[in-house]
Amino acid sequence: MATPIFIDCCAGPELAWVRTLYESHHDQESLLRCSACRAFWFHRFNEYPDWTGGGGDLTTWYTRLTTEEGERLRDAADPFAEDLSFLRTRPAWMDDARGSRRVDGAPDHPHG
Ligand SMILES: [Zn+2]
Repeated sequence: MATPIFIDCCAGPELAWVRTLYESHHDQESLLRCSACRAFWFHRFNEYPDWTGGGGDLTTWYTRLTTEEGERLRDAADPFAEDLSFLRTRPAWMDDARGSRRVDGAPDHPHG
């Protein structure tokens, strides 16, 4: 996978997929880890269907996790049952058709 330019855990970040935590037709939650500095990242992908025919809107969030949070999600038998409410108040990167920007929090559950 390509590492977005805004990923800022270290000087030479290189994100690698660890595991998929949840997946549906329009949503995906993944655990990523930087190969350079070993930082964990939570990646959320939402596709908002556009019923007017405009092609829909793709939105992704990247939230930096602590080592403890990353290892908990990596080792969880049922990762979708884990409490992710901390994502709502954790600074994150949001990326969509309008570009990428820093936000104060990310969704903690799939869009629908
Ligand atoms: Zn890094």
